[in-house]
Amino acid sequence: MWERSHAIASLYDGSAPTVKRLIWRLGKKPVSGRFPWSSFAPVIILTMPLHWKRTVAAAATVALALAVLAGCAPERVPATGSPSPTASVSATPVAKPKNFFNKTQYSLTDPTSIWVVVNKLRPLQPTNFTPTLVTLDVPHVSAPQMTQEAGDALLKMFAAAAAAGAGQLQIQNSYRSYNVQVNTHTSLVGSLGQAAADAQSARPGYSEHQTGLAVDVASYPSKCDIAACFGQTPQGIWLAANSWQYGYILRYPADKTAITGYIYEPWHFRYVGVALSTEMHNDGIETMEEFFGLPPAPDYATATG
Ligand SMILES: [Zn+2]
Repeated sequence: MWERSHAIASLYDGSAPTVKRLIWRLGKKPVSGRFPWSSFAPVIILTMPLHWKRTVAAAATVALALAVLAGCAPERVPATGSPSPTASVSATPVAKPKNFFNKTQYSLTDPTSIWVVVNKLRPLQPTNFTPTLVTLDVPHVSAPQMTQEAGDALLKMFAAAAAAGAGQLQIQNSYRSYNVQVNTHTSLVGSLGQAAADAQSARPGYSEHQTGLAVDVASYPSKCDIAACFGQTPQGIWLAANSWQYGYILRYPADKTAITGYIYEPWHFRYVGVALSTEMHNDGIETMEEFFGLPPAPDYATATG
């Protein structure tokens, strides 16, 4: 038996596990009811002519190699080098509005906000609010006081108007305090009555001039100051067309009285910052009420305040 096993092993190189299993099976009993081909295979092989043995050995080697290869199914090798096209997992594209503008960037109620909306339905909060002011070095009729940011923009706008050949400008009215407005309005109510006083002057706490962001502009020297004809002067025409580039809007346009509550005031400009004035200009929207979707404010909530 040893000689036989040794002889079979010599057909291979003695190290293949298959050979060892064949040798082991020679010592086993045949399985009942079935011819033990596997046990007799070594005997059959031994009795073959030499060239048959070589053929069987070669065939067995090929079969073994194929079995090994089949057991080692090639794994998917990641592509290297240039990226291979992959089926993109279609992420739902987020539709970004063209020229997105964030309308909540600044407060509409904080009196220190450059977007604060003050009209006959929206008094300043608190009504006696006082802004931080600077005094501007420009020709003026009354004290030229505005916030730093609004004042800086006004100086640039005045210089640009002059450079464009529109003429010189001055400040007619800029900041007006709550107390000044109380005196002015009370005096008008006493002489003209409530309705006529409301038509000419804002009630205390309801004036944009109290924010430090509004200014009544006049030609210098004066011509058509605080009058509708200012809109036809070179200065008035230039300001209506170009103020948006400096962060200012013409706050009370001719055809918006039902929304703003004020008649056409081609001299009254309101600083809102270049971002908002540019957006309103591009959208063709003239009033803050319309731009921010606020209710029209043609009159005060009550007849008398
Ligand atoms: Zn004004």
